[in-house]
Amino acid sequence: MPTINRHVNAKTPVDLLITGGLVLTLNDREEIFSEGAVAVTGDRIVAVGDGSELLGAIQPRELLDARGCLVMPGLINLHTHAAMTCFRGLADDLPLETWLREHIFPAEAKHVDEDNVRWGTLLAVAEMIRSGTTTFCDGYFCVDGAARAVIASGVRAVCAQGVIDFPAPGVPDPSKNLETAEDFVRRWGGQSPRLTPSIFCHSPYTCSPEILRRGKALCLEHGVPFQIHVAETSGEVEESLKRHGFRPVAYMKNLGLLDSGTICHHADWVDGHDIELLAGSGAGVSHNPESNMKLATGVAPVPEMLGAGVKVGLGTDGCASNNNLDMLREMDMAAKIHKVHRLDPTAMAARTVVRMATSGGAAALGMAEDLASLAPGKKADLITIDLNQPHLTPLYEPCSHLVYAARGADVRDVIIDGRVVMRNRELLTIDLERVMTEVRRIAKKIKP
Ligand SMILES: [Zn+2]
Repeated sequence: MPTINRHVNAKTPVDLLITGGLVLTLNDREEIFSEGAVAVTGDRIVAVGDGSELLGAIQPRELLDARGCLVMPGLINLHTHAAMTCFRGLADDLPLETWLREHIFPAEAKHVDEDNVRWGTLLAVAEMIRSGTTTFCDGYFCVDGAARAVIASGVRAVCAQGVIDFPAPGVPDPSKNLETAEDFVRRWGGQSPRLTPSIFCHSPYTCSPEILRRGKALCLEHGVPFQIHVAETSGEVEESLKRHGFRPVAYMKNLGLLDSGTICHHADWVDGHDIELLAGSGAGVSHNPESNMKLATGVAPVPEMLGAGVKVGLGTDGCASNNNLDMLREMDMAAKIHKVHRLDPTAMAARTVVRMATSGGAAALGMAEDLASLAPGKKADLITIDLNQPHLTPLYEPCSHLVYAARGADVRDVIIDGRVVMRNRELLTIDLERVMTEVRRIAKKIKP
């Protein structure tokens, strides 16, 4: 039976009807409609069901023919530093500390300003929309530029001002780091339903306990997410035990940082007790397998975290440590890294990975009510994937194709907040040629 909202009757006009595709709802009942349709009015889905039944029941103002396509909720990139597109490929094949301290931090100190962050973020958004991401969770510096890019491009994002205990781009005096972050939250809160401001304390080892506590308190005061990199390397765990007598997650728990408004990025080196703390607190975790592999930082115990009920989503991390923002590729890696690490092909199923890239991320962001499934009342964030291609033929199981065979370039149309932002692979809200020209100009300054 189609899921038709009772408010929709034979006379009801809707703004947009996406019809004829294989609709993977990812709803509670795991419904799939082989020739389905999704009706959208304003920024919300109003009906999902069998295509011919819906076409007979409603009057669309605009039709998007999705025959030959998979129609599904947009992907959620739970961890990135979008503007780092400007540093893509600048320094590879190095250990995390060398990469950060000798290459990335100095380049950031010299070249990160609001304008560059705006162009870098626009490039990231273009890449993400073109590979099916409709929501991303970001953290960087000079993030007024990122917020502007989000508002202009039509994407949905959580944008955080970075907080760190040493001079950073736009924050030459570290004693002003929280003030800068709070100003950002005040400035952008309520500006757009697609933009959620946030505060990102870089890590437990680059922020003092006082800054961490106050950063979290500010997030609670303003009702915005708190983000932090946690337990990314084994060295960080050793250092934390030496300095504080606790592993990073327990240290954060002691400081009162763990609750459902906190997103922990990486959590590669967590033990059973850490996992209990994460699950019990309701904190979210972003899993970033490509970044973890490239920087050789470790393999997060994601099956254990999921088993314990931790809200785990999937992220690409910044594209200087990846070096792309393609979530479909990340999903492939997420499925395989745990299999080879454990020598167990059953360790991570495709369906679990698809859930991580959608509902897992939404839960971690506190946006589960609005995102990650196609159902009446949800935000209209959805994508179509062109199935009529050799590498996606035949099709037995959509989740298998999404994880093991599809790639970002297969995404055909993208709708965010009810608005078509990409049609037939053409970006409608971003002047891509201009953005690439600007980023090439920035790159010439970074590496003349
Ligand atoms: Zn990161």
